[in-house]
Amino acid sequence: MGKDNLSSHIDDIINALSDDLDEEISRENIEKELNKFMEYGVPIDQAKQTLIKKYGGQTAPTSYEQSSERKLISDLQPNERSVNLLCRVISVNPKEITVKGEIRKIFYGILGDESGTISFTAWSSELDIEKGDVVEISNAYTREWQGSVQLNLGDRVSIKKTDKEKLPESAFEPRKMKVIDLRSGVGAVDVTARILEINERTTEVDGETKKVFSGILADETGKAQYTSWHDFKIKEDDVLQITGGYVKSWKGIPQLTFDEKATVKKLDKKKIPKKDLQINKMPLYKIIEKRGALDIEVEGTVIEIRQGSGIIERCPECNRAIINNECSIHGKVEGKQDFRVKLVLDDGTGSVTSSLNKELSENLLGKTLEEYKKMDELTMIEDINKKLFAHRIILQGNALGDEFGTSLIAKNAKIIDFDIEDEADNLYQELEELL
Ligand SMILES: [Zn+2]
Repeated sequence: MGKDNLSSHIDDIINALSDDLDEEISRENIEKELNKFMEYGVPIDQAKQTLIKKYGGQTAPTSYEQSSERKLISDLQPNERSVNLLCRVISVNPKEITVKGEIRKIFYGILGDESGTISFTAWSSELDIEKGDVVEISNAYTREWQGSVQLNLGDRVSIKKTDKEKLPESAFEPRKMKVIDLRSGVGAVDVTARILEINERTTEVDGETKKVFSGILADETGKAQYTSWHDFKIKEDDVLQITGGYVKSWKGIPQLTFDEKATVKKLDKKKIPKKDLQINKMPLYKIIEKRGALDIEVEGTVIEIRQGSGIIERCPECNRAIINNECSIHGKVEGKQDFRVKLVLDDGTGSVTSSLNKELSENLLGKTLEEYKKMDELTMIEDINKKLFAHRIILQGNALGDEFGTSLIAKNAKIIDFDIEDEADNLYQELEELL
């Protein structure tokens, strides 16, 4: 839509608001918001009415009469109440859960609009919607679940099927994206990536056994998990253009999900050479912003050794750290010893926590659990601090985010600064050997 065209629509909005036009509502703001609706292909009349309502004006009655204001999925934040959406059902599945010992049926799936997609859970045993339906939802609410915003359809929700043309297929044109930009809610995507790993399993869907394929894919910007609900004969090392997939995420780790409605095209393997797929180094702010990431490297300074580092006892049943042989779930147990270092890493752009397992901790510290057992606790903690506190280290692994922050599950760890005196001694020694 041309700028001039839009300008007359902005006039209309301002005219409709003239009685109660607030000083704060500038033409510029209205234009910005209207543009956003246009960008996502929302029909102009609908966009205008939504904005007029938003700013408190009166509009002609529409099918949105009962709902106060339509929200775009991409704008949803956690803990919103009375959420009203116009969206298309991208997937819907029943699920049985156990609540207080009783089996209950609920539904889960994905909803989409012009701006993006969102996972939902419907807490009722009846849900009369199908894949492809366009529905008006009012009085839903949002929560944060494992690092993503999730929509909940509770007792107060109203769901009305409406004309499919209100959200035509064309509103769901897949957008080209690099793997690093994949995050839940972006809507249909078009991704070109190399398959690094593929696993096959079977699962029950509506009483039918279905093959599901999942694994890891990558481009030069990063890695992500994928799940394919259709057999596209994908093989390891294939370079594929996958068009029409959706992104979900688990603790911030993106997962591309696609089914028979997607197109999967095999491309020349040279399009994404294997050598371009190294572990990506990422500044911490980026990981925190994305809430998580798969197989990345971070570098920073250890700014804190946290309580709970050193020798600990674990429950033999559930592996939880325990104190005095008492597990919060399993009661009195015979604890087994373990060793870990919990630290906070900071690179100047942000900080993450990481709990290093026994093997990584022993390697970094150059001492074993058995050796630490001979020390008293204070000496042990002092030794850990001396060797790690304020040192620069590199960690490799997966970053997982949730409401408590982001933590790195390290698979590799190394110290990259060194003791200058030690290093000088080594140099001398090497020189002497040369002479
Ligand atoms: Zn336990």
